[in-house]
Amino acid sequence: MRVLLASSEVHPFSKTGGLADMVGALGKALGRKGHQVGLVTPLYAGIRERFPLKLRDDLPIDLPIGLRRVYGRIWTLSPSENLTIYFVDQPAFFDRADIYQRDGVDYADNAERFTFLAKTVAHLATHLDWKPEVVHLHDWQVAMAPLFLKQEAPSSGSKDLPPVVVTVHNLAYQGLFPAHQFALTNLPWDAFNPSVSEFYGQVNFLKSGLASCELITTVSPRYSREIMTEEYGCGLDGLLRHRADSVSGILNGVDYEEWRTEGNPHLKHPYSSADMAGKMRGKLELQTELLLPRDESIPLFGNIGRMVEQKGVDIMLPALESLLAENLQVVILGSGSPTFQRRFVDLAAKFPTKLKVVIGYNPGLSHRIEAGSDFFLMPSRFEPCGLNQLYSLRYGTIPIVRRTGGLCDSVTDLQEDFAKANGIKFTDYSSTALAQAVRKALSMFFEPSLLQHYRFNAMKADFSWDRTSDAYVEKYSQAINKRRGAGVST
Ligand code: ADP
Repeated sequence: MRVLLASSEVHPFSKTGGLADMVGALGKALGRKGHQVGLVTPLYAGIRERFPLKLRDDLPIDLPIGLRRVYGRIWTLSPSENLTIYFVDQPAFFDRADIYQRDGVDYADNAERFTFLAKTVAHLATHLDWKPEVVHLHDWQVAMAPLFLKQEAPSSGSKDLPPVVVTVHNLAYQGLFPAHQFALTNLPWDAFNPSVSEFYGQVNFLKSGLASCELITTVSPRYSREIMTEEYGCGLDGLLRHRADSVSGILNGVDYEEWRTEGNPHLKHPYSSADMAGKMRGKLELQTELLLPRDESIPLFGNIGRMVEQKGVDIMLPALESLLAENLQVVILGSGSPTFQRRFVDLAAKFPTKLKVVIGYNPGLSHRIEAGSDFFLMPSRFEPCGLNQLYSLRYGTIPIVRRTGGLCDSVTDLQEDFAKANGIKFTDYSSTALAQAVRKALSMFFEPSLLQHYRFNAMKADFSWDRTSDAYVEKYSQAINKRRGAGVST
């Protein structure tokens, strides 16, 4: 199959979160299976210096953005089998080190930047000589592309527009802008209505895509059901219920070439489920690196992620206050809301031998925390998929998760199936429920055979991309059939 993917971030070129990991791995996995894959993404600052890109003079970009025309160039790279990345070079929009915001404030021209990106996706979808059969969009930054595809149709001379699949990685981020910015799209104003682009008087990029694409997917089955409820629907649950027949969830896979306990450049001591000695050495080194008492017998809890309410930091802070009286250690790596950052740093100052907080973004340290911890905390309020619990499982680090979204779909608790248990789940969104789950972990830590049983199951769990990419190919076929069945709509 010939597939054109599009995303505002792609690992290893750019990344703020799980979206980048997922899209990078999906492109690679589809290519490995013999599909022809293109991936459209912006050329941010520094990418050209790090990768040997090729300028494509045959793909000039010249598009209307409101009253002006914006030019761009395309650079390509083929990093793996059957995969070509199309980097969109538009220095005024993308030659920035930070992707969406600076110092916690969104860029004022985000509507323009991502309108241009989505228009470029539609343009390439209809002008690439290998004629993509399906377009797969990821999140709000490219979600307007189905509307632009229909605009492109007359000039492309092609009646067979490729069908579009939109994947929602996080419904809380929709790309909302003041109504007047709809003019940037050059779409007829009749699209600015509550069943397509309008959302309570504003333009909603994600909604526009969800209303116009053939199929909608989310990154876990449970999240696909949750977003049809008022509690998790972020105001779009009505639209999603209306499109329920087109909505489904596919759990993300893990790039096990990168997230592995043997032959991993970030881990000095390799280990496997048959020989865990390296994991213990990694734990001791992590304690040394972070200036915590070096002691194998103290249970170590890790946490990595954005310090925002979604990730459960508001229940984690009070839970830690009460738990730090126990004999345990906690290591936290992340950045986000200045208030949460300060509260974590203040708490660490009160418990210097038990809690270490590292503010920042550090991929190497994230591998060492995943490997060196005994348990991993993910108390999210909601979690579309979550990747860190999947990495934890592979690293034999027992995840402690709230029963929501992909966390619930990927971790097995002892109440569900003792033989396969690989993690601890809790239900209530409260610091008490989280602290109780941590206490369960503490008692497990002192029962070596039980801990071993969980670790073995965790490391055996398989979330490889092989299965996940097949599930997407199945969706692409459905989207193509749906488009055929509906005839060409322009
Ligand atoms: P989200 O996309 O909501 O932020 P996910 O769990 O899906 O959450 O993915 C987060 C990704 O970003 C993971 O690969 C995680 O390891 C990585 N990550 C998040 N924060 C940091 C950090 N401070 N340092 C290194 N990696 C991080």
